[in-house]
Amino acid sequence: MPKPAPPHGTVTLLDEEAGTQMLSFFSTTVVLLLGTAVSLAYLFDALSSLPLRPATLICALALATLIGIRKGHARIAGQILIWGSWAIILASAPFGSGNRSVGVVGIPLLIFMQGWLKGPRHAIGMTIATVAALLGISLAEHYNWITQAGPIPPLLRWLMLCAIFCIMGFFTVLSHRLHLKRYSEQVRLATTLALVTEHSPIMLAAVDAEGRYRYVNNNYAHFHGKSTDELIGNPVVDTVGADTLRQIRQTLLKNDDGRGAYRSRHQDPVSGIERWLETSVQQARTNDGAEDGFYAILRDITDEVRSAEQVNFLAYHDSLTGLPNRALMLDRLRQAILRGEREDSLVVVCYLDLDGFKRLNDTWGHSTGDSVLIQLADRLQDCVRGTDTVARLGGDEFVVLLGGIENREEIPATVARLLKAVECPIPISESRSIALSASIGVSVCPLNGEEPDVLLRNADQAMLIAKQSGRSRCSLFDTELEGRARALYQTTANVERGLAEGEFVLFYQPRVNMRLGTVVGVEALIRWAHPEEGLILPVSFLPYVEGSEVAVRLGRWVLAEALSQMQRWSAIGLHLPISVNISGHHLKAPGFGEHLAKLLEAHPGIPAERLEIEILETAAMEDVEKVARIIRDSASLGVSFALDDFGTGHSSLTYVRRLPARTLKIDKSFVRNILEDPEDLAIAKGVVALARSFGREVVAEGMETIEHGVALLSIGCEHAQGYGIAHPMPAEAVPAWIAQWKCPACWGDAPRPAT
Ligand code: C2E
Ligand code: MG
Ligand code: MG
Repeated sequence: MPKPAPPHGTVTLLDEEAGTQMLSFFSTTVVLLLGTAVSLAYLFDALSSLPLRPATLICALALATLIGIRKGHARIAGQILIWGSWAIILASAPFGSGNRSVGVVGIPLLIFMQGWLKGPRHAIGMTIATVAALLGISLAEHYNWITQAGPIPPLLRWLMLCAIFCIMGFFTVLSHRLHLKRYSEQVRLATTLALVTEHSPIMLAAVDAEGRYRYVNNNYAHFHGKSTDELIGNPVVDTVGADTLRQIRQTLLKNDDGRGAYRSRHQDPVSGIERWLETSVQQARTNDGAEDGFYAILRDITDEVRSAEQVNFLAYHDSLTGLPNRALMLDRLRQAILRGEREDSLVVVCYLDLDGFKRLNDTWGHSTGDSVLIQLADRLQDCVRGTDTVARLGGDEFVVLLGGIENREEIPATVARLLKAVECPIPISESRSIALSASIGVSVCPLNGEEPDVLLRNADQAMLIAKQSGRSRCSLFDTELEGRARALYQTTANVERGLAEGEFVLFYQPRVNMRLGTVVGVEALIRWAHPEEGLILPVSFLPYVEGSEVAVRLGRWVLAEALSQMQRWSAIGLHLPISVNISGHHLKAPGFGEHLAKLLEAHPGIPAERLEIEILETAAMEDVEKVARIIRDSASLGVSFALDDFGTGHSSLTYVRRLPARTLKIDKSFVRNILEDPEDLAIAKGVVALARSFGREVVAEGMETIEHGVALLSIGCEHAQGYGIAHPMPAEAVPAWIAQWKCPACWGDAPRPAT
């Protein structure tokens, strides 16, 4: 059957088979009818009155056609059947009226079939051939070359038959034209559909009432790893499986309007990749409303599903480390508390904050900081059981929840494991690793609270205490301490009041030159002589006012008091330099330089060179440029600077060079371990070497024993302060202490570092 060519084979319609079906129907009918007629004729011995021979031949041709169709040669077999039957009918026409009757019916039928199978031109061709052949027969009869058949004169009969065949040919052409119009309309529709769907990501399939693909677009075929030609005409069940087909039918049945949609998950058989599909199905109906298969539109929604999962994940997880975030952690804590109640066990909340992480970020960049956090997250998870939770609250703060703990004695071991995990050097490049430390605060349910918020807050508070007491510490939340802390420090108003009441005092810790055995100065350390609580150390109140206006006022008081003290000591002939600790916030607050100048003016007998300001290395790193400017301005007044707790801030060489501080104070956490920890000794040595190469002085703080002093001297650090020399003491005690202090003899003889 001729059809308008579909564009690039993208459109294939099931109607392709209609011609073959018609041919096979026709052949079967011929075989059955003529087969029955021949059998009956033989049965009743009426052989002579029926056109049996031609009929037998036609029957044989029809059988051959059927076989041809089955073997896939429908077109050739069809032509042999049609032209064979035509020839047999015409050849037998002169030999009997029965034969002619068959011809009158049979020839128009053959013309009609030819028209449908091969097109109108072939139908007209067959009509002309028939008319010509009949003209030949009629002329032969007319001139009595063959016996005339029937009463009608041959030429008249010829004209009558011509009229019949021509009318038949005309109707064939007409009906074919109408069919073509309808068909091309269908193809046009299908082409449009194909164009629309091929350029959109949707997959489309039309399925007929027998459950076979009527149409599929390329996307659909491609998704199933087939071509459109392989699918069209084949059963849907072979491609999608019985379960999917059942689901489609159930979806259609469920909805009265004959449409519905559902989502399903598919695994690509080749790549194994999982994909999500949204299938919308719509019942197809014939014009009279009968069910006629269905249409299915499939959309690959894998990306949508994945991003929904991602959004959901991010709502409860930290995007950098993938750990649970605060919300999920609180939920887990809530569950752990309930489980703890049921099982009568403890729940431990460890609040972990990295020491000096901001420095690390500033020095090595944020991407290094991120990679460190990711590695730490993995390590922390490795330290705990699968049922415990490690969460990241943001920045460098992590929370570890431990459930099912039987007694408090188990806690230190776990916390030590966490601290150790953090302290293990972390590689930041192929050749470089850095060592970190953390401060951990611990609260325990039900001992320190039974609400997630309370437990978390208490662990946070304990962490602050741990942080103040040095690197790599852990502090267990203490309810009693909390009570006092709340009463004392909750508001800066208390400190303000203490300041107004004159409750603050300065203690002084001597700094000595160990090699020469001389006292080179003192460090002023603030204490709160509380009327009820007694002497309170700075760790217990400074963190709570840090960054506030009160802290600046407190700092100003310390400066003024230290200068006054120098004046008082000068009066008795003790010309001792004083180091004063100033918070980063105070130093950077507007008017620091002016205020310092005014104070110095107010104490004219005191040379500014005797005043040293200590600023934490970490605070200086926060705004190197500004701090450097302040240091330079202060130096113009004569005041010098020291970088306190040096080594905890991971300063790079560049930073040290840019900060014109005269002194570097090695942090006590390194000094404490120099006798047994080669790494800490290496750090101390490094700081000494750094100070020497940049022409700075170096002081070790926290020097606790004489042996520490020897070790420090052997690496070239001659200045030190610490309990090994003297504890901080009230101002009045300093002159007497200086008068009686004797430098250990071994310090003078201690080996010098090899230069
Ligand atoms: P810092 O400036 O590093 O002071 C040294 C701290 O170490 C002092 O603690 C001192 O008592 C303690 N210390 C001295 N020798 C040893 C030792 O051999 N072993 C050990 N383990 N510790 C020793 P303190 O007085 O509690 O002060 C703690 C921190 O509070 C100071 O650390 C300083 O950063 C800050 N601070 C103290 N006074 C002031 C102040 O007037 N203003 C400001 N802004 N901060 C201050
Ligand atoms: Mg200090
Ligand atoms: Mg210090």
